[in-house]
Amino acid sequence: MFKPYSALALAKHALSPDRPWPRAWNSPEPKSSYDAIVIGGGGHGLATAYYLAKNHGLTNVAVLERNYIGSGNVGRNTTIIRSNYMIDGNTQFFEHSLKLWEGLSHELNFNCMVSHRGQVVLAVSPAQLDTFARRGNIMRLNGIDAELLDRGQVMKLLPYLDYSKDARWPIYGGIIQERAGTVRHDAVAWGYARAADTLGVHIIENCEVTGFVMDGDKAVGVETSRGKILAGKIGIAVAGHSSHVAKMAGLRVPIETHVLQAFVTEPVKPMVDHVISWGAELFYLSQSDKGGMVFGGHIDGFNTYTQRGQFPRIQTVAECAVSLLPLMSKLRLLRHWGGVMDMTPDGSPFIGRTERPNLYFNGGWCYQGFKATPASGWTFAHTIAHDEEHELNRAYSLDRFEKGRELDEFGIGNWTYKQ
Ligand SMILES: Cc1cc2nc3c(=O)[nH]c(=O)nc-3n(C[C@H](O)[C@H](O)[C@H](O)COP(=O)(O)OP(=O)(O)OC[C@H]3O[C@@H](n4cnc5c(N)ncnc54)[C@H](O)[C@@H]3O)c2cc1C
Repeated sequence: MFKPYSALALAKHALSPDRPWPRAWNSPEPKSSYDAIVIGGGGHGLATAYYLAKNHGLTNVAVLERNYIGSGNVGRNTTIIRSNYMIDGNTQFFEHSLKLWEGLSHELNFNCMVSHRGQVVLAVSPAQLDTFARRGNIMRLNGIDAELLDRGQVMKLLPYLDYSKDARWPIYGGIIQERAGTVRHDAVAWGYARAADTLGVHIIENCEVTGFVMDGDKAVGVETSRGKILAGKIGIAVAGHSSHVAKMAGLRVPIETHVLQAFVTEPVKPMVDHVISWGAELFYLSQSDKGGMVFGGHIDGFNTYTQRGQFPRIQTVAECAVSLLPLMSKLRLLRHWGGVMDMTPDGSPFIGRTERPNLYFNGGWCYQGFKATPASGWTFAHTIAHDEEHELNRAYSLDRFEKGRELDEFGIGNWTYKQ
């Protein structure tokens, strides 16, 4: 177990220049071989390594990260967690994730700032409200919280939105998931990294995987920028670089890569105490603990590995912000950034075995990978440890398109192919 810092110890560290903070995780030299290697030190890779050690007793494990921990999408997302899914497969998986979020700070002894502030999705037509009723009923039948809101209830809850008759899109009502909310994203990476390290996992930064060592069809190791490393089992969890790394093992995965931008304004007094998503556009907004309005919209509509966005998307998203919350026109945009997204044709991810023995694949997270982090690590660790899918990730197989078992939740995970 980790030792929590006392108030006195915190004060001592803060005041003493010759007492540096202890490293949260070690920085070992890579060994020549491990029982298991996880490629990618994002949220999913680190969670996988943690649950391999914690749930399955596999501690001779390395996470290989080409950059530094938290440099990928785990540190670039807009921090929203929710489980408002309605297709079998997604429903149970994302609800398991939300349950793990609820206890995560305690589990990792690391304050991940889990905030169940609730997410309201706004309906901009009566027909949309009907579909929300259907979604809410399915969620409730699955034991997941959901409540339909009429226009008056939304006005009471979110009084600062534009309800005027000139509003670009009228608000007819909405649906709320009270247990949804936000989590401090980089704390999740640090928390899992520290917890995995404590259980004996090697976290190896600045170590890029450049190829696979194969024995026939079987993956038996990786070539890296720090030399060859052999492994009994290898898991790929590289998010936006999934198709690139899978190709090194001769695998072609149904993933397209796009950039998704996000935005933050200057900080203002606390005002927005929910996550708000807008049915008219894929627009969403929350207020950070620092006070900035954090918001985003669609992916940029072309394939790219760049992490920079383009102006037309900035304009569309800013227009959405101002038409929904007119007060946003008075705020200065502080910055915007992009992350590389691994988009699948049905908006649902892959977690499972591959056609190469000992090689496992986790990717295709689209917009929704952050909220999935705990359940993804949980189920991917199970799959790697037992060489079989956990019941929660059975639907996420790589061959589901071949078999006609796609999991298409339009608007929830992916809008790319529908526009
Ligand atoms: C702007 C934006 C907003 C988002 N908002 C949300 C949100 O509100 N809620 C939500 O649920 N999701 C959101 N997402 C999606 C979510 O962030 C991602 O789906 C999720 O973080 C991906 O998983 P990860 O954390 O493991 O990825 P990453 O952090 O990207 O981890 C993958 C790691 O693999 C490493 N890597 C790549 N290639 C190699 C290699 N060859 N060798 C070694 N390492 C390698 C990378 O350096 C990277 O660190 C958002 C994404 C973006 C960009």
